[in-house]
Amino acid sequence: MNPRLLKNTLTAICVVMLLNYVCGAVDVEDGQWPPTAIPGILRITQFPVMKVIEHIQQAKKTLVSFEILPPLKGKTISSIYDHLDPLMEFKPSFINVTYHRSETMFKKKADGTFEKVEVRKRPGTVGICAAIMNHYQIDAVPHLICGGFAKRETEDALIDLHFLGIDNVLVLRGDAAKNEASFEAEPDGHRYALDLLKQVVNLNHGLYIEEDIKNGGKTNFCIGVAGYPEKHFEAPNLETDLKFLKAKVDAGAEYITTQMFFDNGKYFEFVKSCRKHGINVPIIPGLKPITNKKQLTMLPKVFHVDLPTDLSDAIMKCKNDDEVEQIGTEWLIQQSKELKQSGVPVLHYYTLGKPKVIWNVVKEIA
Ligand SMILES: Cc1cc2nc3c(=O)[nH]c(=O)nc-3n(C[C@H](O)[C@H](O)[C@H](O)COP(=O)(O)OP(=O)(O)OC[C@H]3O[C@@H](n4cnc5c(N)ncnc54)[C@H](O)[C@@H]3O)c2cc1C
Repeated sequence: MNPRLLKNTLTAICVVMLLNYVCGAVDVEDGQWPPTAIPGILRITQFPVMKVIEHIQQAKKTLVSFEILPPLKGKTISSIYDHLDPLMEFKPSFINVTYHRSETMFKKKADGTFEKVEVRKRPGTVGICAAIMNHYQIDAVPHLICGGFAKRETEDALIDLHFLGIDNVLVLRGDAAKNEASFEAEPDGHRYALDLLKQVVNLNHGLYIEEDIKNGGKTNFCIGVAGYPEKHFEAPNLETDLKFLKAKVDAGAEYITTQMFFDNGKYFEFVKSCRKHGINVPIIPGLKPITNKKQLTMLPKVFHVDLPTDLSDAIMKCKNDDEVEQIGTEWLIQQSKELKQSGVPVLHYYTLGKPKVIWNVVKEIA
């Protein structure tokens, strides 16, 4: 053999073995080569990765999960660990990581003119999921959106997730871009979460966009979708919204995570309506604490949710945001206790930069 070729081959083998060893990727039994694990799949984790639906099915009590945002560009992964470290004592079953599309911005140039640039302020969803699974040995659920993605880019993103051993996704449409009046799909992208979900299901069956890929490798995603106890703001009524939600479940969604709500009655009614419409998958309540006065107007405006009068009255009487945070914490504790008592599968907390508040809540109900 050509000595240069031999040297290159040995180097390549060593690099791959080292990578696999460092990443716990494949089990090379007694130096056996090639390794026995599925070729091409770089598993970053050494714990048994579970799907959200498996966590729910195997649970003997209400589980806890958290949702985080990627940090603003420029911050490091340690900001995620600082955020999550204190919450680990509650042994969350999984951690969701949101996805944020790019925004069009106009940057002033040295000559005084403006340049149009596409900026993603919070990149890193996939990397953070991989880091969480590696660092905490906890399942991560990346959010996947239609907005800003062509179907081929979605396929590539799904392949990345699969190769990393991430078997969970929350499939969403995403909101309109900041400069759009309403949501606009990419020229070759998906219009509704349902269409994106069908692409993920296809890949689970080994069906790729490239039709010449025959017998393609199958992915193994557990798919969750969003639901809205107070209806999605674009839907003409709850009935119509539920019809589309049922279509997502019929197409393969295995569970629903809800938009935040502050009145448990709305969640209980929603679950009842879902069951009446034949939506029988687990419905995970999404929960968020109120921590400042501005949210009294911001939450209804941005998330299209109502605040109960008792809560808004109490917040209006607060002299400062510390008092608001106290009220918000107590409210969320009561909400969580009642939901847990009613037997919800998971309490899913939107931590949104407030891990201390979430810690104060979960310690009361854990
Ligand atoms: C738990 C949760 C997590 C979220 N995470 C993120 C995130 O990480 N990143 C992000 O950008 N956004 C996120 N969002 C926000 C979400 O993207 C928006 O609420 C978005 O406006 C709708 O997303 P969807 O997946 O519910 O859309 P869809 O299910 O597509 O529904 C959107 C609207 O279209 C209607 N509709 C659905 N199908 C059809 C059809 N075939 N024909 C006509 N109308 C139809 C529905 O009734 C609804 O009014 C999240 C929301 C929730 C509840």
